[in-house]
Amino acid sequence: MKYSKLFGKATKNKFKQASATSHQLLLQAGYIRQLSAGRFTLLPLGLKVNKKIEAIIRKEIDKIGAQELIVPTLHPIELWQQANRDKKFGASMMRVTDRNNAEFTLGATAEVIMLDLVKQFTPTYKDLPVNIYQFSQKFRDEARATGGLLRVREFIMKDGYSFHKNEKSLLKTYQKYWQAYLNIFNKFKLDTLVVESDNGAIGGSISHEFMVETPVGEDFVVKCDKCDYAANLETAQFLRQEINLKDAIKPFEIISQPEWVETMEDNVKHYKLPKTRFLKNVVYKDSDGTIVVGVIRGDLSVSKAKLAKVYGAKGDLEPATDKDLESIGTKYGWVHCWGHKAVYVGDLSLKTVRNFIGGLKEKDTDSTNVNYDRDFKCQMFGDIAEAQSDSTCAKCKQGRLKLLKCVEVGNIFNIGYTYSQAMDGFFIDKSGKPKHLYMGSYGIGLGRAMATIVEKHHDKNGIVWPKSVTPYMVHLIGLDLHEKLVLEKADSLYRHLKKKHISVLYDNRLEDSAGSKFADADLIGIPVRIVISKKSTEKGGFEYKVRSEKQFKILDLKSIVDTIVKFYS
Ligand SMILES: [Zn+2]
Repeated sequence: MKYSKLFGKATKNKFKQASATSHQLLLQAGYIRQLSAGRFTLLPLGLKVNKKIEAIIRKEIDKIGAQELIVPTLHPIELWQQANRDKKFGASMMRVTDRNNAEFTLGATAEVIMLDLVKQFTPTYKDLPVNIYQFSQKFRDEARATGGLLRVREFIMKDGYSFHKNEKSLLKTYQKYWQAYLNIFNKFKLDTLVVESDNGAIGGSISHEFMVETPVGEDFVVKCDKCDYAANLETAQFLRQEINLKDAIKPFEIISQPEWVETMEDNVKHYKLPKTRFLKNVVYKDSDGTIVVGVIRGDLSVSKAKLAKVYGAKGDLEPATDKDLESIGTKYGWVHCWGHKAVYVGDLSLKTVRNFIGGLKEKDTDSTNVNYDRDFKCQMFGDIAEAQSDSTCAKCKQGRLKLLKCVEVGNIFNIGYTYSQAMDGFFIDKSGKPKHLYMGSYGIGLGRAMATIVEKHHDKNGIVWPKSVTPYMVHLIGLDLHEKLVLEKADSLYRHLKKKHISVLYDNRLEDSAGSKFADADLIGIPVRIVISKKSTEKGGFEYKVRSEKQFKILDLKSIVDTIVKFYS
């Protein structure tokens, strides 16, 4: 490719809206342009990288026996409704209506579509497992689309789906995807941490995410400093410290309390006791209008994901508004730990303290010596607290949990029967009876992978692509091209490399300075740079330099091809 003809060139001008390094570099180097928040065009260079990423994924996924197909992007809303998925996705689902008022959603993921497809073939146990995947455009109406390709509203995803007769069979495929993903991210030169995760809007039981640690990450992962435990913050388990279980249980009392005492900080100030001694309530509303109160020890925070799981939320839980609180007869800061028209979900930490303060706040009174089980009991009880930095690891019971900021580059979901039960997804077993299909799903976002690679592989001058995903193998820079001999040599090297199946981006511009050509090459980040100039021809060849190194060497025509081939082998 002659750079003079390339659509979408590099620029030294910085982009003000870029919030992450990868966002800035991909814009500046001419890989992407923004259409609107969270929607990006892949320019010719960007598409080249995208295709490399796609090819690597396809190769590894094909290897484990998955078969590629493609389903429509517009999904009939009824299919999503059958499995209650429209509610689970909530506001992040894009809706579209056609001329007949039929409602569709722009696919955010395709579990229900793939299940509907498999159903059409009435599979028997002999046809299982089915393992299918696609590369297609996905849509998610993210509230905050920031960080360039890291968090977008429209993106290309590799989404795979497998269908089995039981969990045992699923786990075999699950393991194969796990290994395939490790191979893929290894080729992208991304070190991943595989963590347990919450299935969230996808549904089902345990799943895993492939995380890359980076300061621009918006996912939090906890990792034990003593054992191998690692989990997404949304699901991370930890041991609750026992506070005062040796204290004698005292009689329940209503005590007077100054009117200004409302928040946890006010309590600490007034009673001169640590946060652990107080009760705290966090209030949410489910999609069906049910008010859900998470009751927890004062020093801990309620994890929305854990609460949704213990409670069995029907949709996306939203923080209760003033109006919601009014509807159950209370207001902010005055929520009781029992007695409101709500579903109460208690955290395990409620059993680590004796004689809590709080729980029945009124204008100038509250309760004290409150003990779980004796004075109140939540309808549901379980692990709804968010792990914190330095929490004790629940696995080894010794180590401390560290919080890491990560980008999720891939996930594998053990979905189970969630959709097959909701949508009558059956297969015929050996005895001729219909049984529910057991499902798994597997995703990798291509744009996010590209951005994460840039986050991990760049220097102060620009991108440094790993060999596997570079848009071209060689960045050939021609200098002094107004001199006929140099121009001829440069053109002939360009043709020669192409003949040897070495892809080349050839900067053949006549007017641009050497400095700006080098700066553009650094920004674009192709791993091998070759310079041909009056000076290099006088020295008998071409300047060869690897992007990540400082030194260059002079090579002749024969050795340059061998060196490139060796570099990429
Ligand atoms: Zn541990």
